[in-house]
Amino acid sequence: MPASTLQNSPNAVLNKSVAERYRHLPCPQNKVKATYIWIDGTGENVRAKTRTLDFIPTKSEELPIWNYDGSSTYQAEGANSDTYLKPVALYSDPFTEGNNKLVLCDTYKHNKQPTATNKRNMCFQAMEAAKDTIPWFGIEQEYTLLDMDMRPLGWPKTGFPGPQGPYYCGVGANKVYARDIVEGHYNACLYAGINISGTNAEVMPSQWEYQVGPCVGIDAADQLWVSRYILHRVAEDFGVIVTFDPKPVEGDWNGAGAHTNFSTQAMRNDGGIAEIEKAIEKLAKNHRKHIAAYDPRGGKDNERRLTGRHETSSIHDFTAGVANRRASVRIPRGCAEEKKGYLEDRRPSSNCDPYSVCEALVRTCILNE
Ligand code: ADP
Ligand code: MN
Ligand code: MN
Ligand code: MN
Repeated sequence: MPASTLQNSPNAVLNKSVAERYRHLPCPQNKVKATYIWIDGTGENVRAKTRTLDFIPTKSEELPIWNYDGSSTYQAEGANSDTYLKPVALYSDPFTEGNNKLVLCDTYKHNKQPTATNKRNMCFQAMEAAKDTIPWFGIEQEYTLLDMDMRPLGWPKTGFPGPQGPYYCGVGANKVYARDIVEGHYNACLYAGINISGTNAEVMPSQWEYQVGPCVGIDAADQLWVSRYILHRVAEDFGVIVTFDPKPVEGDWNGAGAHTNFSTQAMRNDGGIAEIEKAIEKLAKNHRKHIAAYDPRGGKDNERRLTGRHETSSIHDFTAGVANRRASVRIPRGCAEEKKGYLEDRRPSSNCDPYSVCEALVRTCILNE
């Protein structure tokens, strides 16, 4: 793409070789940078701030509770703004390396109650109640790269690219844009300790996917949130914006989802297809409840995406089928053949809160709520 489009971003034009002068300065051995990451009041965006520790932590419980100004993140009133950060999971920091850490946190109000966008707390309770069934989740995170003018990266500034068809899993300069970001993110996730399981270019140009999982219980959603932080952060280095909007371009362009693949030990055992079918019957009876949990606006975002076109089901009806990419829930062909495995819930929006999605699946399919 012409350099002129990237000059919109100060991050893209700052000289990265100058930054290298400071990156590898020897720092005191016992000093560790801990970047605390949390979900803000939008329920969609992440925030982060860094502090120095004088020990090398090995688990999240060792890290101090911290706080931040919740009135600047849509989470508190100015007059009562201190909001608590409780460390819940620890990852290696791929941006500063060494012993430095990324610290995922959930958030609590001045009265120690969870904030409105702390969905982890309830999800954790559901996972505890269901833990004997050993629930696994694998989440396919789709996203779109944008230039600083909020147009998809590499798209003509006036008009549109050629119609969809050649871009999915595409190779070549006229098919995919910014593979550097995708591969940087992949490596950074592996370095951090995220169980990232793959990546592919998507149907719309500048749209991509990666998968996290399978992970057990709460770990899937924890890891997905940190993988999103890492993606925003890698793209920031290139002066590129990541959007998880489920329908970034109206018209004949695919939306973006977060297909959630789900199984219990009983589903993974021989003959588990019977368990998968039982779960699908329960999901059919709870369609509205799930749609409400599958995007941050209770279904409003998914209305733009789940149209019944562009490989989606209609938001209004529950459908299920083997190898059916137009259904709400798909049984992968391999699982139908082996008569065991998992189901794929195709409804979650790309900007969903995976805590809400995983919690809804567990409450409906395992806890019978
Ligand atoms: P698709 O064919 O829908 O594009 P992907 O290969 O992108 O599928 O993603 C499949 C996801 O399912 C991966 O994240 C994988 O880890 C996950 N997965 C595989 N087996 C299971 C299982 N038994 N339970 C839950 N998730 C699983
Ligand atoms: Mn996929
Ligand atoms: Mn996909
Ligand atoms: Mn899928």
